Amino acid sequence: MTDFPVQTRSSQVQIKGWCPGAWQPMAASDGLVVRVRPPGGRLSQAQAHGIAELVRCCASPWLELTNRANLQLRGVNAAGHVPLLDALRELDLLDRDAAAEARRNVQVQPLWTEGDTTQTLALQLGECLARADAPALPPKFGFTVDTGEVPCLRGAYADIRLERYAQGVLVYADGATLGGVFTPEEAPAGALALARWFLAAGGAPEGRGRMAALLTRCDLPVAWQQVPVPAAVGNALEPGPQPGGTLVGLAFGLTQASTLAALADGGALRLTPWRSVYVEGAAPLPDFPELITDTNDARLRIAACTGAPHCQQAWAPTRDLALALAPLVPSGQLLHVSGCAKGCAYPKRATTVVATAQGYDFIRHGTAACAPDHRGLALPALEQLLKNKTTHAPRI
Ligand code: SF4
Repeated sequence: MTDFPVQTRSSQVQIKGWCPGAWQPMAASDGLVVRVRPPGGRLSQAQAHGIAELVRCCASPWLELTNRANLQLRGVNAAGHVPLLDALRELDLLDRDAAAEARRNVQVQPLWTEGDTTQTLALQLGECLARADAPALPPKFGFTVDTGEVPCLRGAYADIRLERYAQGVLVYADGATLGGVFTPEEAPAGALALARWFLAAGGAPEGRGRMAALLTRCDLPVAWQQVPVPAAVGNALEPGPQPGGTLVGLAFGLTQASTLAALADGGALRLTPWRSVYVEGAAPLPDFPELITDTNDARLRIAACTGAPHCQQAWAPTRDLALALAPLVPSGQLLHVSGCAKGCAYPKRATTVVATAQGYDFIRHGTAACAPDHRGLALPALEQLLKNKTTHAPRI
């Protein structure tokens, strides 16, 4: 897969066009980044303990939870990669090959209950995508299985969405207002049929492309225009008690191996795209500083990428700056601090600060790649801007 450069205002940024996996790790300045995609978005207690052990023996101590609900190990050295794959295979956390892993990109609403449609559907869809005859989708192409009473993953990145519809499952293309209804048993095949249409309609020239972009230039077949996609949706779930367990936020999506193991002592873990983990059961939570259970915690109002020194493309550190600025971000708003114009931590519009060679650029309401409203600022000037409440854009 070829990387390609795009010229931004501040630097030439390498857009990879693919996400790391376990089979295909990504090189960073602190070693290999190895991403694990737990089937159905769930880690059993044994799997979570197994990952914590792997982190202790062959990676940096901090794990990252991504905005696609995957777990990422950093700092793996090249010689340790094959033994790591063997260990993941032992834990049932490794796909057959890199192609199967890349296709199996499924996010799952975390509050499913034993025996309901969601988990079965998610596992079946994952199995269908991992088969050798599955469509060869672009690396970032993804699915949501959001079949709870009210959808909560509409803000998550996906190209095909599966939601509850009466006794069936609504399958629709991201960006569409209409979709098709299937029985739960038929829904995985329906989702794959829509993915095949995406490819046949030219959605991925040169192996890249997204569903919503395709829909701006061509119409869906009649089979995918049967019923309207309901407008009413739930929001991303907030940390705190939830039915059957507790949702725990992680500052910047980071957790130490010891914290992951302590959480897994309480129950199996379900990963969310909101940089949080749902812990099954009623066991009391361990007390670690990176765990967030208070919805008023200012760390829930900031997003920041790895930044310097771990990312080669970063102009400056990001997370300490974001923590320093967090108390100035009003409730319901989001501040995104990015180490460069690529904006890995939050690709949507927000109040955004971007590190550059000349200081920090400030974007009132945009992505990290947008033209800045102010250039080359230092911390005092950023604080001054953020103290003004009209500075903050609405959170998307
Ligand atoms: S946004 Fe952050 S993590 Fe992504 S390439 Fe730039 S500096 Fe690196």
